[in-house]
Amino acid sequence: MDVKSSSLKLAAVLCCVMLAEVVAMELPQVDCDVVVVGGGSAGICAAVQSGRAGAKTVLIEASHQVGGNTTTGGVNFPGLFHAWGKQVIAGIGWELVAKTVALDDATMPDFTKPVGKAHSKHQVVVNIPLFVALAEEMLAQAGVTIHYHAAPLRIERTHEGWRVMTAAVGDTRTITCKQLVDCTGNGAVAGLLGLERLQETERQPGSFVYTLKPNTDLSKLNGKMLQDRYDAAVRDGILQPNDCRWNVMHYLRENAQAGNYIEGADSSNADGRTAANLMGRQSMLRMFRFLKTVPGLEKVELVGMSAEVGVRETFRVNGEYLITKQDYVDGRKWDDSVCYAFYPIDLHSQSKGVHPAHLRDGVVPTVPLRALIPKGSTNLLVAGRCLSSDREANSALRVQATCMATGQAAGAAAALAAKQGVTPGKVPIGELKALLVANGAIVPAAVRK
Ligand SMILES: Cc1cc2nc3c(=O)[nH]c(=O)nc-3n(C[C@H](O)[C@H](O)[C@H](O)COP(=O)(O)OP(=O)(O)OC[C@H]3O[C@@H](n4cnc5c(N)ncnc54)[C@H](O)[C@@H]3O)c2cc1C
Repeated sequence: MDVKSSSLKLAAVLCCVMLAEVVAMELPQVDCDVVVVGGGSAGICAAVQSGRAGAKTVLIEASHQVGGNTTTGGVNFPGLFHAWGKQVIAGIGWELVAKTVALDDATMPDFTKPVGKAHSKHQVVVNIPLFVALAEEMLAQAGVTIHYHAAPLRIERTHEGWRVMTAAVGDTRTITCKQLVDCTGNGAVAGLLGLERLQETERQPGSFVYTLKPNTDLSKLNGKMLQDRYDAAVRDGILQPNDCRWNVMHYLRENAQAGNYIEGADSSNADGRTAANLMGRQSMLRMFRFLKTVPGLEKVELVGMSAEVGVRETFRVNGEYLITKQDYVDGRKWDDSVCYAFYPIDLHSQSKGVHPAHLRDGVVPTVPLRALIPKGSTNLLVAGRCLSSDREANSALRVQATCMATGQAAGAAAALAAKQGVTPGKVPIGELKALLVANGAIVPAAVRK
């Protein structure tokens, strides 16, 4: 071997050694009181409430913005804050929604008008970019530090609480805290800690929100011809059955929006998210190409697409109390009820669609603090879609106004627990309710014995 080739070989070996040592940059350790994981509708409210209560708070969010399904998933119509003619959910979530509507010069629905089973008429449409920016402003004003593009990789118990190791794009970080709040929608923190999570064998389908502009007078379009063509395209395998789960004319009148089902959509891990997003965008492409072949719709435009597929169901955490469908439809109240909830039972099925089951007149369900405490845990709360509930109750409890209210309650409990050096279940319920009320929340009164 000549000198040149041996020095080349040495350089190659050195290069391999150097490559083997290349690891993500480790950032300086952060110490705080409360870590909120997941910045969706629940996580925003949890973090703002915790920060406002004086706890040093860090919010870890895996994506590029806050809002979760409300923003990244394109489901920008939070509901329901009102029931039977009066407001039942307010607080930090309502403050954010109201600020967004006001800055956007938009209008709120008339909540005094009963809408019967047309509950969606009382949902509030929010401008997504404004909602994100205003949420970030509220988080900053509450002193919350946000870490985007990060997720916990490992969580260890410490004498004082927790050590959370996060992995992010290009770096890793260790955060120590006293209390953790799991607002991931999937109970990801509970899962990392080996706590029990519940899931069904067949998940409810997700939906991909995109916006079409037909660029034609739909009243002149033959609805039967359109539907026949759609059905034929499905039979021929050009389209898949749930590419449009509505009547096609209704889908066009609604500018497409969430008019499809994405089978088995999962947000609980990167592979699941990747598969759901690929399926969602392919479904959109199939529909768009199909519509352009329909006489009269040649000029249809794709004008918007949400960043990710909206996911309805993954894991639910099994908590100190599990809210059942019966509790929900009876509007049960407990001594530790921390907020109200309001929505029909809303179970979706890939083959059968959705047939909402509405609550009886006057019924307004509630959520006990124990449904936000994973069973057998200490120094940990859960809020939002993955709260402790059976499948049917969860199909109603997962809506955004309720996620916001449970998030605020969890943030308040976490901040008080951190201050008092206790686990959240030991925080005096009166103090917790007082803090929530001081921050604008509506809290169910104590149960009369
Ligand atoms: C198609 C569809 C239609 C719907 N319609 C309505 C409706 O009409 N009205 C209504 O109010 N609600 C509706 N919902 C329900 C509602 O939008 C969601 O259930 C709700 O937004 C969930 O809020 P969340 O904060 O619990 O979770 P998400 O909004 O899912 O937020 C969780 C956040 O956590 C982050 N995250 C997840 N894992 C990690 C991790 N390991 N580390 C860090 N971050 C993580 C995610 O990126 C996300 O930002 C609908 C849902 C779907 C899918």
